Amino acid sequence: MRMRHGFAAILSGVLCLTGLPATADPGHQPGGPCIQDNQNVSLSSVANYADVVQGLDRIVRTSKGLVTVHNAGRSGEGRDLLYATVGHGPDVFWLQARIHGNELHSTESALQMLDHLASGDPDARLIRERMTVIVIPMYNPDGAEANIRQSTTPARVDLNRDWENFAQPESRAWYAVWAAKRPRLALDLHHMGTAPVVNGTDELNQFQIGVRPIDPSRMTAAQWLTNRQMSMVSVKALDGFGQTHVARYPDIDITNAVFSRMLLGGPGPDGSRPGFTTQGAIFYEVRSVGQKSNGYLERLFTVPAMALLTSVARGELSGTDVSGVDAVPRATQGPCGV
Ligand SMILES: [Zn+2]
Repeated sequence: MRMRHGFAAILSGVLCLTGLPATADPGHQPGGPCIQDNQNVSLSSVANYADVVQGLDRIVRTSKGLVTVHNAGRSGEGRDLLYATVGHGPDVFWLQARIHGNELHSTESALQMLDHLASGDPDARLIRERMTVIVIPMYNPDGAEANIRQSTTPARVDLNRDWENFAQPESRAWYAVWAAKRPRLALDLHHMGTAPVVNGTDELNQFQIGVRPIDPSRMTAAQWLTNRQMSMVSVKALDGFGQTHVARYPDIDITNAVFSRMLLGGPGPDGSRPGFTTQGAIFYEVRSVGQKSNGYLERLFTVPAMALLTSVARGELSGTDVSGVDAVPRATQGPCGV
């Protein structure tokens, strides 16, 4: 597709360089966030919608045909819903970021991963050969530009609770891509606001693994196994990575979240069944405070995600031992509240 330029007019009305404190949400929901009222996050160094447009444009030009960019539709405010694909293998992997607009660093991380996937790195080559990776750097551009969790039109809808009602154009557009591409595996990037502590310790928790968006009893045995294998590969990739403390996201059972519906294969906006389900769908939640540690926070997304993609491409994921999942500690929801 041709990329559009000249987004200054779009940005001038909504971009707030000083940052807006986000409204606190209950901590025990996928995607949080629970950013505190007194926490200001400068947006000047965080990827906005224009950065996504320009970043994708640059990657398409430099990748020499390895990356293609597509438009899933329009957001409520009329922004193009952009996604990229890289690779030509049969195993389709869905990587989405920023469904919650105020969870900031996942977009930059997704663009970094896309850059890497288009590179000459041997693992990137293998991934391109065996997989097709769909990268959505900004699922919710309106919410991102407004620095809020939800959509902005027609009402503030949490897009990660809209895959039953499909009230939002974003939900309908992304569902159509999912139903057409039929990804076997999916990964969703979130932030959790201020960091809770790892249960039983005084260590700040910086990464939570969301192994189950729905109760395992709703999944097939193969789905539950795959979710745990994806989690173990991700957690192991963070072993020894700085002072990162990993915890499991609280157990939840929410059926209208995007990944819940991917696993359940529930009906689409027109009521028809998709005829397939995604086999494995997990999410990451990374600590989101600390302007000076942007690079570290971005690597908390990219290190485990690239390990996961490499594991799939090498054919290792399905043999991953999941006996360590239960040993990953729970987090104590400290300042985020319950
Ligand atoms: Zn989120």
